[in-house]
Amino acid sequence: MKIRATYLIAAGLSVLISIASPAIAAAPESKSQITILYDAFGTDPSMTKDWGFSALVEIAGKRILFDTGDDADILAANVKAKGIDLKTLDFVVLSHRHSDHMAGLNYVLSVNPTVKIYAPKEGFGIYGSSLPSSFYRKDETLPPEMRYYAGAPPQVMKFGAAWRDANFELIDKTTEIAPGMTLIALVSEVPGTRELKELSLAVNTSEGLVLVVGCSHPGIEKIVEAAAAINPKISLIAGGFHLVVAPDDVIAKAVTALKDTFKVERIAPGHCTGEPTFSALKKAFGDRYLYAGLGITLPLGASADLRRGEGPALQQDDLTTYRRLARREDPFGILHARSLRTKASQL
Ligand SMILES: [Zn+2]
Ligand SMILES: [Zn+2]
Repeated sequence: MKIRATYLIAAGLSVLISIASPAIAAAPESKSQITILYDAFGTDPSMTKDWGFSALVEIAGKRILFDTGDDADILAANVKAKGIDLKTLDFVVLSHRHSDHMAGLNYVLSVNPTVKIYAPKEGFGIYGSSLPSSFYRKDETLPPEMRYYAGAPPQVMKFGAAWRDANFELIDKTTEIAPGMTLIALVSEVPGTRELKELSLAVNTSEGLVLVVGCSHPGIEKIVEAAAAINPKISLIAGGFHLVVAPDDVIAKAVTALKDTFKVERIAPGHCTGEPTFSALKKAFGDRYLYAGLGITLPLGASADLRRGEGPALQQDDLTTYRRLARREDPFGILHARSLRTKASQL
């Protein structure tokens, strides 16, 4: 009798839990991949190698152009070689103001002039900016002709962008721009690029976090640390790690941090990562190192969709209670396995 009751409870719970998870089953299949459109290494003969970075990130049903390379004509040729349509982008991210990441923007705008472009907000930056007019000191004893705006400045002073009509949205600090999609905004403290603001794209998927970086001027470890605060399970990092002139000890420290501290699952370095760093990462990550030369498409896995909740049917507390009960009363181990899987996906 006890066994029979146990079986019934387990069977009932199985139905309940499958009802509770319709969002997972019904999630639309979308192509999740990253295609490298601009870089200085690669083997695709139809594409032109040049220093810079651009990648088409297709993830969670969105098409995102991350950076635009160093030259509009080369970007145009590489985009055409891959048969990519930039008219249907959801948005563009410009990681930072260096020309090897933004100089292809003219081509993007020629194809898609109204596309939303996320760019870092910097004082008097090329993507435009603004400041309250209270920022400058006033001297009311001066005659009006010696005063800025004759002594009556606008409340907010706007400063122009190099692309006047482009649809920029400036990002000042780390911001979730769409559900599960965060632009991490950090400032470089390194001599040479001090005060440079850089955006990195972090997408929280059911497989873990997918992180796309441009040049990593604030430091790859700092960016990954900020990303790990969103989700400590980091599934993939792609882009430039800016260790191109770093000495061996600095490279070794970064590699150890990525592999052992942050336990990054897969790594797809490109651009300014640097040749000795490619070598060190390949050695450390083995087959978890994904070659990301120009023209390569990195698959993100079938389930690299946005991380989802538990579905609306049961509250989290109820689910926890049911699962605890299920583990105890689960004669075939099915519910226990399911619970472990759910827990793993929540890590
Ligand atoms: Zn740069
Ligand atoms: Zn760069």
